[in-house]
Amino acid sequence: MSSLVGPDEDDPRGKPPVPEHVQDAIRTLIEWAGDDPTREGLLDTPARVARAWKEYCLGYGEDPSVHLSRIFEEVGGYDELVLLRDIPFQSHCEHHMAPIIGKAAIAYMPTDRVVGISKLARVLHGFARRLQVQERLTAEVAKCIWDHLKPQGVAVVIEAAHSCMTARGVRTPGVSMVTSKLYGCFLDDERSREEVLKLMGY
Ligand SMILES: [Zn+2]
Repeated sequence: MSSLVGPDEDDPRGKPPVPEHVQDAIRTLIEWAGDDPTREGLLDTPARVARAWKEYCLGYGEDPSVHLSRIFEEVGGYDELVLLRDIPFQSHCEHHMAPIIGKAAIAYMPTDRVVGISKLARVLHGFARRLQVQERLTAEVAKCIWDHLKPQGVAVVIEAAHSCMTARGVRTPGVSMVTSKLYGCFLDDERSREEVLKLMGY
């Protein structure tokens, strides 16, 4: 029957090795939670968890601003709002290391240069794949675009559910938190701000 079983994506063979002390830390946590890390179903869990955490935290190995280094200056006179909305992302809160799952809307008002639209999502993911608080994530994404694209304005709105609040503590599923960071014309000019928030759906 085993020939009917397809390749196991969690098969540790061919995966990067996980140092023993890292696996030990996860065994300690399993024990602390109340289970037996030596039972069969949990034997490979420490290595899997360790590799998963490397993936959740890929952002530590990158500088998100590199995604804004390839700019297009031929914008054909376009100097209106550029908006990417409903960008899904995942992060982890630095207080509980619990998932933060949400979506972001990122807008900027170009001066003389634009970037490929997917780059805005890459900047978001570069900062989200770290241990975060939502307020800082929002501010880091906005500042990165403000500093590197030098637009007339930047607006970032993030809406997310925090598992540390929905799955533990006050246990309030369905509750989401909204944070925003504005720069330039979106901060200074009320009409620009109203326009961008309306287009974002707020
Ligand atoms: Zn938390």
